[in-house]
Amino acid sequence: MPTAIPHWIDGARREGAGGRTAPVTDPATGEVTGSVALADPAEVDAAVAAATAAFPGWRDTSLSRRTAVLFRFRELLNARKPELAALITAEHGKVLDDALGEVSRGQEVVEYACGIPSLVRGGFTENASTGVDVHSVRQPLGPVAVISPFNFPAMVPMWFFPIAIATGNTVVLKPSEKDPSASLWMAELWKEAGLPDGVFNVLQGDKVAVDGLLEHPGIRGISFVGSTPIARYVYETGTKAGKRVQALGGAKNHMIVLPDADLDLAADAAVNSGFGSAGERCMAISAVVAVGGVGDDLVDRIARRTATLRTGDGRKGADMGPLVTGEHRDRVRSYVEAGEEAGAKLVVDGREVRPDGAENGFWLGPTLLDHVQPHMSVYTDEIFGPVLSVLRVDSYEHALELVNSNPYGNGTAIFTNDGGAARRFQNEVEVGMIGINVPIPVPMAYYSFGGWKNSLFGDSHAHGAEGVHFFTRGKVVTSRWLDPSHGGLDLGFPQNG
Ligand code: NAD
Repeated sequence: MPTAIPHWIDGARREGAGGRTAPVTDPATGEVTGSVALADPAEVDAAVAAATAAFPGWRDTSLSRRTAVLFRFRELLNARKPELAALITAEHGKVLDDALGEVSRGQEVVEYACGIPSLVRGGFTENASTGVDVHSVRQPLGPVAVISPFNFPAMVPMWFFPIAIATGNTVVLKPSEKDPSASLWMAELWKEAGLPDGVFNVLQGDKVAVDGLLEHPGIRGISFVGSTPIARYVYETGTKAGKRVQALGGAKNHMIVLPDADLDLAADAAVNSGFGSAGERCMAISAVVAVGGVGDDLVDRIARRTATLRTGDGRKGADMGPLVTGEHRDRVRSYVEAGEEAGAKLVVDGREVRPDGAENGFWLGPTLLDHVQPHMSVYTDEIFGPVLSVLRVDSYEHALELVNSNPYGNGTAIFTNDGGAARRFQNEVEVGMIGINVPIPVPMAYYSFGGWKNSLFGDSHAHGAEGVHFFTRGKVVTSRWLDPSHGGLDLGFPQNG
């Protein structure tokens, strides 16, 4: 019998009442292991009501008490993260090491949020005008929603909720229905850490839940991560309803290899960033751009490394796991076929891989396509699978033009030993996160994460200073404590004096 995966509302599990559910599968076996509740509008109301009721008390909880809860959450998470990693692997399919890495990157945001007292400190100006002082404060928004994708069921929610909670907001998390168990585990951990009921809620569901949150007058802010069409929809719908929205979308990340690059380093980087997590990372490299004459040598080095990778069950020591669902695997395969038909050269064919694992797993091995052209669908679309395309251009300028004309602008990397070329690239490229001889340049928690163009709608990136700013709003207070010498009527506009 599949395990029922419920909501978490007001500090307790709550079974789905509407009767709609979705199957959750173990991608390495193809078995249905869970049945997740899909919220109906009444359940959206219940989750928002819990977050609304908890808000006044949490907002007024002192910073030292709030951070004490955060520190406890961090300690519990650090001690028990293998449990969370195992849940992620069982529903997402990524290998255990990678799942642990995801949790650790999320934990860094919890650690950042532990320093919230100094991050939300306001300013004070004494005697701005005679006898007049001015100070600024930042206050929480209220109940906020976090809507997350399947590919990082722990890290992406943790990009947002530690800072939202630290700054005094209450949260409704709507995780992906494909791997929903990590969110419940984190909710239980918050309870154990002493977070008051209702401050962190999990609403399981699909479009009905998302639409309910977007329209709900009780929700004040939305942090969304997912594909570009849905990110755009969430941004437009949420802002139209008067909410503050940050919506991070899809990606097509290029890695440029200049002729002077260390080709072994570049080949390692292409393989690690292209095939890690089966290519299901928004910062995965999917297009390698070989500049000048390096193409043949680079492709040869990448192909030799790719041949050594073991695809299989993420719990059993494989390098790369399955894709998240059979449907997604078939879609990724169809891009490989389309690329070959359009004239790209299939150098490594992942469709032929015989994985270590159950035959019904959602397998597709690492795939390498060379001589890909910019008009081919394998290049124009975000594939989100273990498919690396190599394009060849004759100059740095053409490589830059390729990256800058792409509608996405999430991450990119350049491989070179020429500091001047790297410096020029980081200045000229229209992308939010750049690696120089670093393939997956995910910023640390104390910087902000986010792309440009169709990779992010809104003007706030995730975590770091922009995260604190997103989850708070400013107030400026101008005050005068009258002494008896002041007073009298003056209808003029206030001026400094
Ligand atoms: P998705 O867009 O299908 O789903 C994301 C969330 O939106 C889920 O919670 C889902 O339930 C909900 N959703 C799906 N369809 C909806 C609809 N029609 N209306 C309202 N809500 C809907 O994305 P996914 O497949 O879960 O995740 C993969 C995508 O996320 C990729 O495009 C990837 O690049 C992107 N991603 C981006 C970043 C980033 O930082 N920019 C990070 C991780 C993932």
